[in-house]
Amino acid sequence: FCAEVPGRIGGKAKGFTMSIATETDLRRIAERGAADLDGASAEDLLRWTEENFGGRYIVASNMQDAVLVHLAAQVRPGVEILFLDTGYHFAETLGMRDASEAVYGVNIRNVTPEQTVAEQDASEGKDLFAREPNRCCALRKVAPLKKTLAGYDAWVTGIRRVEAPTRANAPLISYDEAFGLVKINPLAAWSDDDMQNYIDEHSILVNPLVDEGYPSIGCAPCTMKPAPGSDPRSGRWAGKNKIECGLHST
Ligand code: SF4
Repeated sequence: FCAEVPGRIGGKAKGFTMSIATETDLRRIAERGAADLDGASAEDLLRWTEENFGGRYIVASNMQDAVLVHLAAQVRPGVEILFLDTGYHFAETLGMRDASEAVYGVNIRNVTPEQTVAEQDASEGKDLFAREPNRCCALRKVAPLKKTLAGYDAWVTGIRRVEAPTRANAPLISYDEAFGLVKINPLAAWSDDDMQNYIDEHSILVNPLVDEGYPSIGCAPCTMKPAPGSDPRSGRWAGKNKIECGLHST
């Protein structure tokens, strides 16, 4: 009940192909998948995603490393990778995006906000991130993501439970209430050691900023090096009483 058909029958658009999956269908698939794949490996979760959603899913990456990109490309060569190009990224992160496309043969979907940074400065006042980071993230991350995901039935993310208390209960598969599609987190159960072992074993590309002391990389104005021994995500929006950008409710 999830086949792709030409023309409009219902559901959400992706290019010239329409899915006939309804919200009820997607909720059922997520529920069944969560039960059937409890404790499954990242590879099995990605294979399940491919079997259930074919070309109707996209893999999000913040380009901190290419672990998820590499895993996903094994299952679907040329898989679509969503990169939220906020206009505030480090040059190293943009370099990782381009290198990942070249090395792993994936298709980067570079998603930009409605307004350029200059346009936002003109309409909202300069450096909105410093005054109202939640609004800045809403405009530059959440809104463009929502618009993009409306064209898919599922998205795959790299969030891990050990990253933050807000992610401690991240499920492997769920129906994403915020964006209205199935969400798969193949790395949710991975530890930092699991990540490093995979990186070492497969010589995976890693953002050079990690080796410079940034364990969690986001937009440049909102990312600092955390103090030695402190929470790795404490360098994100430091002093702003904010720990998530609004993309992940789980
Ligand atoms: Fe704006 Fe900072 Fe959010 Fe990036 S992380 S969208 S610069 S507030």
